Amino acid sequence: MTTCLGFAAHEAHAALTPIRFERRALRADDVAIDIAYCGVCHSDAHQVNNDWNNTVYPIVPGHEIVGHVTAVGSDVTRFKVGDRVAVGCQVDSCLQCAPCSEHQEQLCIHGPTTTYNGKDRQTGEITYGGYSEHIVVREQFVLRMPVNLDPRYAAPLLCAGITVWNPMRRYGVGKGSKVAVVGLGGLGHMAVKLATALGAEVTVITTSPGKADDARTLGANHVLLSNDSAAMQAAANAFEFIIDTIPSRHNVNPYLMLLGREGVLVLVGAIEPLEPIHGGLLIRNNRTLAGSLVGGIQAIQELLDFCAEHQVLPSCEMIDIKDINTAFERLQRNDVKYRFVIDMTTLRDVALL
Ligand code: NAP
Ligand code: ZN
Repeated sequence: MTTCLGFAAHEAHAALTPIRFERRALRADDVAIDIAYCGVCHSDAHQVNNDWNNTVYPIVPGHEIVGHVTAVGSDVTRFKVGDRVAVGCQVDSCLQCAPCSEHQEQLCIHGPTTTYNGKDRQTGEITYGGYSEHIVVREQFVLRMPVNLDPRYAAPLLCAGITVWNPMRRYGVGKGSKVAVVGLGGLGHMAVKLATALGAEVTVITTSPGKADDARTLGANHVLLSNDSAAMQAAANAFEFIIDTIPSRHNVNPYLMLLGREGVLVLVGAIEPLEPIHGGLLIRNNRTLAGSLVGGIQAIQELLDFCAEHQVLPSCEMIDIKDINTAFERLQRNDVKYRFVIDMTTLRDVALL
């Protein structure tokens, strides 16, 4: 076992503070990773605040992890000390069931082991995430960082990126697809960049008039204000694919109305009950309302390789770990452009205190 310094919350809505905890000794198929960067996902705030009623405290969040290998177990074949690697939202699964064998480990029927607030499959111990110095991860769940992908900007691909990439690939977003992105935050801005890179015509639907210029700079062709009912009416039936990243309960009907024939709206943000869905809106135009949960390891690797090849990089605001609580507050009040990434070397300053 190795002692690890990290940042944890000890109860709902509490500030994150330094914590020392133990990382497990390396198993034969484990990779030990020193963490260089960790993205700050809205899910981290949800989990810290126990919004999903499943948080075990203390919680060390962080599932957008970039770093390098410091040691490998005796059976590890794909990685060696010094390799640049990444870790996303899962660190283990059964690897036997149908979803696992079809590269959908995130849908493991026995439940994937999440990177934090999960349960280690062998010991039952709670997992701790990437707001920390280092992590130990089963080889199959470690991603290879392409050499031409700048590690300072790669972290948000591990959750925000894959969460929007996976459904875009599943539903065939490509050249000329008419795509709308609801909510221009961490996930939304990646949806704009990736859909644009795939050749789609992209519209951002936002509550924030002040984000219109940014949306266009990120690649969007059009911007719609969701509270402009005339503009929303005018866009009825306009889209083939809509991705809805709103992080809380909301009314999906105004967005469903925007889907054209056979259009698909993929919900990724709100995991609570929604306002009632209007059946007529779904039935008309053969519309589909779908959900999507992050993505499997193979898909994440495909995304990292795509982003390296096309130089699609998240827009990151780099922060010191000591500023994590301010970052959480800003995230909750919709003041982030467009993903906070923690420079984990700043943990050294905390260690000296
Ligand atoms: P974020 O950076 O806070 O972005 C969310 C965006 O939604 C905001 O920037 C805002 O955009 C819009 N928004 C916020 N509150 C709203 C409201 N009440 N009504 C309408 N629009 C609102 O969050 P994120 O990191 O992108 O995460 C988004 C959600 O996805 C979170 O709930 C997170 O837990 C979830 N998530 C799901 C998965 C999955 O696998 N399905 C994976 C990762 C994250 P505008 O200012 O443009 O309106
Ligand atoms: Zn996330």
